[in-house]
Amino acid sequence: MKMSKISSILIANRGEIALRVVRACKELGIKSVAIYSDEDVRAVHVKRADEAFHIGPAAPAESYLNMNKIIETAKAAGVDAIHPGYGFLSENENFASLCEKSGIIFIGPTSKAMEITGDKMKCKEVMKRAKVPTVPGSDGIVEDVEKAADIAHRAGYPVLLKSAFGGGGRGIRLAKDEKQLRQEFEMASAESRAAFGKAALFVEKYLVKIRHIEFQLIRDSHGNGRHLFERECSIQRRHQKLIEISPSPVVDQKTRERVGEIAVRAAAAVDYLNAGTAEFLRDDEGNFYFIEINSRLQVEHPVTELVTGLDLVKLQIAIAQGEEIPFNQQDLRMNGCAMECRINAEDPFYDFAPSVGPVPSCNIPYGPGIRVDTYLYPGCTVSGYYDSLVAKLLAWGRNFDEARRRMKNALDEFQIEGINTTIPLYRTIMDEPNFVKGELSTDYLERYRVMDRMREDAKEEAKKKASAAVAAVLLQSELVKKAKAKGAGAAMQQKQPSRWKHVLR
Ligand code: ADP
Ligand code: ADP
Ligand code: MG
Repeated sequence: MKMSKISSILIANRGEIALRVVRACKELGIKSVAIYSDEDVRAVHVKRADEAFHIGPAAPAESYLNMNKIIETAKAAGVDAIHPGYGFLSENENFASLCEKSGIIFIGPTSKAMEITGDKMKCKEVMKRAKVPTVPGSDGIVEDVEKAADIAHRAGYPVLLKSAFGGGGRGIRLAKDEKQLRQEFEMASAESRAAFGKAALFVEKYLVKIRHIEFQLIRDSHGNGRHLFERECSIQRRHQKLIEISPSPVVDQKTRERVGEIAVRAAAAVDYLNAGTAEFLRDDEGNFYFIEINSRLQVEHPVTELVTGLDLVKLQIAIAQGEEIPFNQQDLRMNGCAMECRINAEDPFYDFAPSVGPVPSCNIPYGPGIRVDTYLYPGCTVSGYYDSLVAKLLAWGRNFDEARRRMKNALDEFQIEGINTTIPLYRTIMDEPNFVKGELSTDYLERYRVMDRMREDAKEEAKKKASAAVAAVLLQSELVKKAKAKGAGAAMQQKQPSRWKHVLR
């Protein structure tokens, strides 16, 4: 790949990630071009970018997923490159290929590499050949339920049915026995066809008491590959990440080097380019199994930025320009510990029902070691059309415990009026004894009955608030009595409002 300096970038995304890319562009002196749907006219990424183009109606298919319209806009704006962010078109090899054909640099892997990583089964086959350990299961797509039952019988139940094209926790189904497998197979096929266009299911042994540990990767066009250490993302709900931490409490330096080297090999095996993530599951005995490569910038990339001091978006742009990675593996150091809570516009007290609408006011936390990536501002509106992620709250500390305590404080300070969010759940988790000890697993929420705990915490808090209110009333009547006794009732009355406010806070 030859060097070609990027001087303008169209950001084919919205929300916090679009803003994140705008910031990197500004630092580098690159012109940033935003796109927006009808729903995002007043969005902050539109305000902060140097230029912005209206792209279509609110529905993603007609705006942020509209490949032709986006390419057309990129050409009209005369940009050199497109940054896809995460979600939307970021892992779409057809879009990457369209960019390549239009002479626009796609800031990400080649369409060829994405074709492999986007097909979990194909990717797994490549990994097996490269001696990367994978989860036991079928050797390819299972066409019918009889074949699936046969493989499951041999692997041993429970098993997972996975869609080869799944993502974001979707397209995964658990079968505890053959009866359930037969039921789930048809539903999983239909679901996969509807969501990803193809039935393409495969079978994987369902591992229990596991941790999700992934390695951040970067690879340049000169064949240099590095890993930027691991992130542990075991705190999940329905196979979707909620909290990410680096370093993992269970990964020591030796393991980090060993698995990191495997991850770099995995990237080389698909001739990977730019930033990506190799995801692994780790069982209780310390074995690692590769599950997939995410061929994009990850939601949780700031966790890695906080512990390495690197800027991943700037690195992505450098690599897309044809530059070499400016450091060796041995140059990299991990400093302290960072964690991220994904603040979603969902009500954890009502089965995580979406909670959207105007946010009349908000208080974004700050302080030592705190970073917030968000598109929220007082007076903004959270749309129901897009992803539920409204903010990423990050805390850095010298070690896990310091990061955790800072995170707890920041969560206490974080106020978002008008919508419900996952903040109460994270406040509970930060003090939960197993979390404090770093005892994590992908079934953490169920294993330690964390949702029940959150409800108890909420009740306790409500009680405290109620008794504070009662105390305030008592104090007030006491004050009035005293004042009356002194014959200064009128003067006292004037002071009341501020007194009330103070006690009720
Ligand atoms: P990460 O590991 O970066 O957190 P996720 O799997 O949570 O990755 O997905 C990142 C974003 O991309 C999320 O906003 C998710 O909704 C979206 N996403 C991922 N895969 C798909 C897919 N196949 N179809 C639609 N959206 C997806
Ligand atoms: P997605 O593409 O949706 O991110 P992944 O294959 O990465 O799907 O898996 C997402 C999550 O599902 C993992 O982090 C883990 O919690 C769970 N999972 C996936 N494969 C297995 C498995 N074989 N056994 C147990 N849990 C699994
Ligand atoms: Mg995954």
